[in-house]
Amino acid sequence: MATVAPVKVPAPQIRQTNCFIGGNWVPSASGKTFDTVNPATEEVICQVAEGDKADIDAAVDAARDQFDHGDWSRMDARDRGILMNKLADLIEAEIDELAALETLDNGKPISDARTADLPLVVDCLRYYAGWADKIEGTTIPVRGDYLCYTRREPVGVVGQIIPWNFPALMAAWKWGPALAAGCTIVMKPAEQTPLTCLRMARLAQKAGIPDGVINVVPGYGPTAGAALVEHPDVDKIAFTGELATAKIIQRAAAESMKRLTFELGGKSPNVIFADADLDAAIEGAHFALYFNQGQCCCAGSRLFVQDSIHGEVVDRIADYNRSHPVGDPFDPDTKQGPQVDQAQFDKIMQYVEYGKQDGASCVTGGNRVGDRGYYVEPTLFTGVTDDMRIARDEIFGPVLSVLKFSDVDELVERANNTNFGLAAAVWTRDVAKAHRFAAKVRAGTVWVNCYDVFDAAAPFGGFKESGIGRELGEAGLAAYTESKTVTLALG
Ligand code: NAD
Repeated sequence: MATVAPVKVPAPQIRQTNCFIGGNWVPSASGKTFDTVNPATEEVICQVAEGDKADIDAAVDAARDQFDHGDWSRMDARDRGILMNKLADLIEAEIDELAALETLDNGKPISDARTADLPLVVDCLRYYAGWADKIEGTTIPVRGDYLCYTRREPVGVVGQIIPWNFPALMAAWKWGPALAAGCTIVMKPAEQTPLTCLRMARLAQKAGIPDGVINVVPGYGPTAGAALVEHPDVDKIAFTGELATAKIIQRAAAESMKRLTFELGGKSPNVIFADADLDAAIEGAHFALYFNQGQCCCAGSRLFVQDSIHGEVVDRIADYNRSHPVGDPFDPDTKQGPQVDQAQFDKIMQYVEYGKQDGASCVTGGNRVGDRGYYVEPTLFTGVTDDMRIARDEIFGPVLSVLKFSDVDELVERANNTNFGLAAAVWTRDVAKAHRFAAKVRAGTVWVNCYDVFDAAAPFGGFKESGIGRELGEAGLAAYTESKTVTLALG
């Protein structure tokens, strides 16, 4: 493929590059900064304050002070909801600018940022704004002359650590339930993509969310992230990222008995039966893996295809790949932009090599696109067996592994033969078969004849090593509340 030619569009303005602590925009205590890079050009966009322990300490102090002495958790819950709705309105009013900022920092196609990421941010905040005054306890018929009831109280100061693949959306998934519950927040965005989170914090301030409720400290994981996890005044850590990082956090947080929720990786099985609507299934399978450059935790990266339709499915996905518009993410026709950074690019190319070494056939792709920017061709492997590294490990790139199956019972066992359990999908016209698969597959989300259908009301999270707890929906909210039992003698 040819070198990627940049498309000229008005650049989004970079306005916030400092830490946001207690309502103030401040440089890091050390004065250090780090570069955030445009993955389409490999050029530095700007320098961002590099937060570390001192900045995390200040941010936690601000969040603690607001939680213990401020008005956020004490204000009428409906008023919290009103402020959250204001934030959603302000984001909506700046949606084009925020989408452009996301594309600049992350490399995702502008059409995705504008029609998927940012609208989902707005929707998530509105959904949780509606919950703010509906967080109810219960009355419990205990033995004896007592009134027993529960209160659901905010868990306190929460540390939120997010990855780079959906930077604004991951912030919204974490802010929404925390704000509705009355918690205060210290967020550490991913070092690759801090810009939209900082802009959203500015809009939260503009919306009238009190100082100290949302604090954002950009920086690296082992420094700023670790300081947040270890801080004794943080009540809960909500983390989205890699399994290996989650295990480090789990060990560190054990010292202070923090509440923990984890949204981690996946190697999701996507199954096409011979009786499926093949047009929909093939288009869906392509989208399931290549959307967001393959950088989705729930990517349908193991495509199981029934043997009688294997040839047709492979040929048609290969055709899609050959005409898939890979290019400048600011071009409105682009469907696949660059990977987020050099490290991800290198990891993906390493897995392409592993696929070849392990004996799979590379039907399309496998190469870099152009010589500038972290572009990878849409890559398709066939002849993949369950034990190959490309079938076992999360690649987080545009590399699809096709696995053949014939027997339905064997299929479920193979689909479940992974340490992950985030998502799964099945394509079939047989309703009973779909429900049987949905019941047997060990995954937190199952899509039938669709893929990547998300809604703020529907819980999302993993079985097994894909995570602990759920985000979104009422389940996501519950993770930000403590239940308190009150018993009162009536006699
Ligand atoms: P990562 O674990 O490297 O980084 C995630 C975040 O953790 C970043 O902010 C990073 O700075 C921070 N971090 C790194 N080391 C840390 C430490 N020692 N202590 C505290 N914080 C630390 O993951 P990534 O490469 O940025 O993200 C990709 C991963 O995220 C994939 O595995 C993907 O599947 C997963 N993901 C999961 C979901 C989900 O909802 N399940 C959603 C998006 C991404």
